[in-house]
Amino acid sequence: MPLYKYVCPKCGHEVTLLKKISDADNVVCDVCGSKMVRQIGNVGVVFKGNGYYVTDSKKTSSKKEAVKSKS
Ligand SMILES: [Zn+2]
Repeated sequence: MPLYKYVCPKCGHEVTLLKKISDADNVVCDVCGSKMVRQIGNVGVVFKGNGYYVTDSKKTSSKKEAVKSKS
């Protein structure tokens, strides 16, 4: 299970939790009860091979033709 960092948009309270993907959006602030927002890329978890990286390289492929051969 990946580690996620959550920040409360209302009071700024931060927590880091181990969550399943399916549970990842259901985090409530301990302090004020607001729904917390997940922060991606702040915990040291790298999202390679999750579709995240592929989407990014598609964008840059218009600049660099060398990436073309990857498909
Ligand atoms: Zn809060």
